Amino acid sequence: MNHSRHEAFLRNVWYTNERTKHFQFQMSNGHRFEFRPGQFISLDIELDGRKIRRPYSIASAPRADNGFDLCLNMLPEGRVSSWLFNLKPGDKIAFSGPFGFFSLREPPDPVSAFIATGTGIAPIRAMLQHLYSRPHSSEVWLIFGVRTENDILYRQEFERMAEQYPDFHFVPTLSRPSPGWTGHTGYVQRHVVRYLAGKKGLHAYICGLRKMIDDVAHEFRAMGYDRKALSYEKYD
Ligand SMILES: Cc1cc2nc3c(=O)[nH]c(=O)nc-3n(C[C@H](O)[C@H](O)[C@H](O)COP(=O)(O)OP(=O)(O)OC[C@H]3O[C@@H](n4cnc5c(N)ncnc54)[C@H](O)[C@@H]3O)c2cc1C
Repeated sequence: MNHSRHEAFLRNVWYTNERTKHFQFQMSNGHRFEFRPGQFISLDIELDGRKIRRPYSIASAPRADNGFDLCLNMLPEGRVSSWLFNLKPGDKIAFSGPFGFFSLREPPDPVSAFIATGTGIAPIRAMLQHLYSRPHSSEVWLIFGVRTENDILYRQEFERMAEQYPDFHFVPTLSRPSPGWTGHTGYVQRHVVRYLAGKKGLHAYICGLRKMIDDVAHEFRAMGYDRKALSYEKYD
């Protein structure tokens, strides 16, 4: 794979909730950008005369139109996330990559469990798109923790997948549910223990902030899973 510098332009962007945007980029000049689902790019920008780099997971599987998506959380006072949030269609970005080893195992394991919080869903969306782009025979779980119902990124996509594929189990869980919410509540850890104990041939992919990943890894280890059954990507 070519890790050199690339350029892409923003084709489309929209809010997915009040703090998060979905970006669709297209490579400039028809250049090809090859990556594995789950990998990230390193975005290079210049702010006030200083060069800054930030990693962002690619939120889509490789596709024929040579485009890729990002899913970005706006951090108050975040330098690069604010810059990205202000991009308009047609604007260009420079980046290098792809990087990282957080990637779907081939062939898929008998049970693939994906655990994400917030924008940690980005590389997992890429892996799920790839997994379901061809026939396979594994049991798949997505345990997705967010604060409120509004924060369930890509909810319709995952709900459609759950309708279409009986082997796909979608477990969104809210830490601050509204009174009308009848679904799962609490942190992802609780549902990892509830749904994923004793699964033969399980491999878990965990993405989000360090604290959640450490807690989830601890639960898997307490359930007797080997460390090798876990892959993770820490955002902080
Ligand atoms: C491999 C990898 C992939 C990533 N993929 C994504 C992605 O797909 N989408 C995405 O939105 N982010 C992702 N991140 C996080 C991203 O790289 C930046 O850290 C984030 O956008 C903040 O950068 P900033 O310049 O806006 O904030 P900064 O100016 O660096 O920091 C602003 C403030 O926010 C705090 N902060 C920094 N990072 C975080 C964080 N992640 N969560 C909470 N507080 C933070 C800092 O301590 C500081 O107080 C990823 C990180 C890694 C390591």
